[in-house]
Amino acid sequence: MNKNSVYIETYGCQMNFADSELVMGILKNKGFEVTRNIDDANVILLNTCSVRDNAEQKIFHRLDHLKRIKRENPQAVIGILGCMAERLRKRLIEEKKIVDVVVGPDEYRRLPEYIDHAFGGEKGIGVKLSRTETYDDIIPYREDGISAWISVMRGCDKFCTFCVVPFTRGRERSRSLDSIVNEIKSLSERNFKEVTLLGQNVNSYNDEGRDFADLLGACANAAPDMRIRFTTSHPQDLSDKLLYTIAEHDNICNYIHLPVQSGSNRILELMNRTYTIEHYLNLIERARNIIPGVSFSTDIIAGFPTETEEDHRMTLEVMKEVKYDGAYMFKYSPREGTKAYSMKDDVPEEIKIRRLNEIIDLQQQISYEINQSLIGKEEVVLVEGVSKKSDEFLSGRTDTNKVAVFPKRDDIKVGDYVKIEITRATSATLFGASPVPVEVD
Ligand code: SAM
Ligand code: SF4
Repeated sequence: MNKNSVYIETYGCQMNFADSELVMGILKNKGFEVTRNIDDANVILLNTCSVRDNAEQKIFHRLDHLKRIKRENPQAVIGILGCMAERLRKRLIEEKKIVDVVVGPDEYRRLPEYIDHAFGGEKGIGVKLSRTETYDDIIPYREDGISAWISVMRGCDKFCTFCVVPFTRGRERSRSLDSIVNEIKSLSERNFKEVTLLGQNVNSYNDEGRDFADLLGACANAAPDMRIRFTTSHPQDLSDKLLYTIAEHDNICNYIHLPVQSGSNRILELMNRTYTIEHYLNLIERARNIIPGVSFSTDIIAGFPTETEEDHRMTLEVMKEVKYDGAYMFKYSPREGTKAYSMKDDVPEEIKIRRLNEIIDLQQQISYEINQSLIGKEEVVLVEGVSKKSDEFLSGRTDTNKVAVFPKRDDIKVGDYVKIEITRATSATLFGASPVPVEVD
């Protein structure tokens, strides 16, 4: 076993995956090796998520499994990173004896120091949040591939009443535009073909007056052969300037993740989402006018405190009206420390589950109908790899983020763009024929 060999497991959102790459970058700079095999590691890190209770429970179970590793190798250092580190701090070290270090999202620079102390038998907690840390100068550790994530900002100032993120990831701050553009150029030189710009609310990006539309345009110009995606847009702040920027650049994907959360204005107000459904629907219409063919996905919460059948029906109505291409759908989960935590969690569990299932069923039907309407049309797909179901087929994604599967051809490889004709579709997958390579730049 290498003396300093680190293994990292990541839970939760894309932001956490990007943070894990950052952490590995920091540790590699200090001479650590990165391993994919937990049994080869003497440092085991879990990068955690606190957004819903079931995410935290999953990590507690995982910690119980890691006891075996600690038994077999008592010198191994076990660390908790990310949102749970921030939220549970001391409790993790006190209640979970196997945990040696607990480091929150703004203290990763000091992680090597904490690990060093842990090798000496000292437990450590670093959970201070920062108003300025953006890790601008750190080069994340990325294996070769075609898709990458870049965090363009950290934290969130929105304080939706259900959400722990402002408490676990701190105040909003943006990375410099120039450093992001340079990172994209170096990804392009490494043959990456797609980058997703990440932030809890990318629309409040601000680097000395340069806004998210400026950043997106600069990224699109810096790497014309790469697809540029971004997430998440808060409906309050999505500007026409941003919509025109998406429309102007062929390599900015025509796909917007625009979480609605609920279709009821009363619930939106209780959630402190700061927009009305009328504003939201107007935004969708403007986006459709400015960006022909744009597709949308969303996040929806079922069973927020006081949600009535009528509120729930309004959510279903908005889904039917917008016709989202996809949705992330959740049951409300009370989170300690948030404003909604003090509201009575009064929608009974079985009603939350029933409403969630209705939302999921409706979304599946909508996705199915949208995908069926694409039969006979052509789509450009970025090839990501061999299909999971058959090695006779390749799989990739369309500009609007739909998974597409099509027959293999010897001259088509991962990272190529191909045009296919859609011949069949389910709610989750498009099936295509006659792939033809296309040049994109
Ligand atoms: N910043 C993004 C936004 O504004 O939509 C999303 C961040 S959050 C990590 C992702 C999604 O988790 C939210 O959009 C929301 O639907 C869901 N979520 C957050 N807190 C939740 C809670 N307490 N219970 C259920 N779902 C929750
Ligand atoms: Fe949470 Fe709202 Fe911020 Fe998204 S915008 S991270 S849901 S507080």
